[in-house]
Amino acid sequence: MPVSPSLDAILARIAAAEQAAARPPGGVTLTAVSKQQPWEAIAPVVAAGHRVFGENRVQEAEARWTGRREGLELRLIGPLQTNKAEAAASVFDVIESLDRDRLALALVAAAQKTGRLPRLLVQVNTGEEPQKAGVVPADADAFLDRVRGPLALPVEGLMCIPPVGEPAGPHFGLLARIAARNGLSVLSMGMSDDFETAIAFGATHVRVGSALFGARN
Ligand SMILES: *Cc1c(COP(=O)(O)O)cnc(C)c1O
Repeated sequence: MPVSPSLDAILARIAAAEQAAARPPGGVTLTAVSKQQPWEAIAPVVAAGHRVFGENRVQEAEARWTGRREGLELRLIGPLQTNKAEAAASVFDVIESLDRDRLALALVAAAQKTGRLPRLLVQVNTGEEPQKAGVVPADADAFLDRVRGPLALPVEGLMCIPPVGEPAGPHFGLLARIAARNGLSVLSMGMSDDFETAIAFGATHVRVGSALFGARN
């Protein structure tokens, strides 16, 4: 199988961070964030056998991955408009940005219509930033109860994007605590600049774009 040096470098950093945190090897999945990248940057990573990719827009993901997604896992890591819920459910295996009741209802309706229901993460706005998607921490437990209880949606875990310019560790720690008290095992946290910190705080999925593929267009 062809080798991708940049993929190998990120996987080696993940392995070193797992070891530094005394975590078992292989517990962290790399979500390769392919948004806004040319196919020439992505193709070598696919050819090297990587299987998990993240995108932040439904239409862009459809354009990039239609006809190429056999055997891959596609994860939506950007905010999702209710009117795109059905399209997202047909493109993505996992939606990481569930954050409101209307979207949960739209995903239920999409599943009834199409028979497809992605696995789900709830996005938590740990920094309580007004411009950012996600439930605020104080509402997280009640929201999780509603979507997992009455709506029976398959929530596997939580996702967060810490505020720019703040130490990320406390946000990762907060997300891990909310997940633990709700019995959730998947934690999507950490990007190019802070994925090793996220692994120290228990990340199971790190979302790495520019450090893997280079600067975006
Ligand atoms: C773009 C993006 C990433 C990847 O960011 P890098 O800093 O390039 O690694 C990760 N998570 C989300 C939600 C993103 O939108």
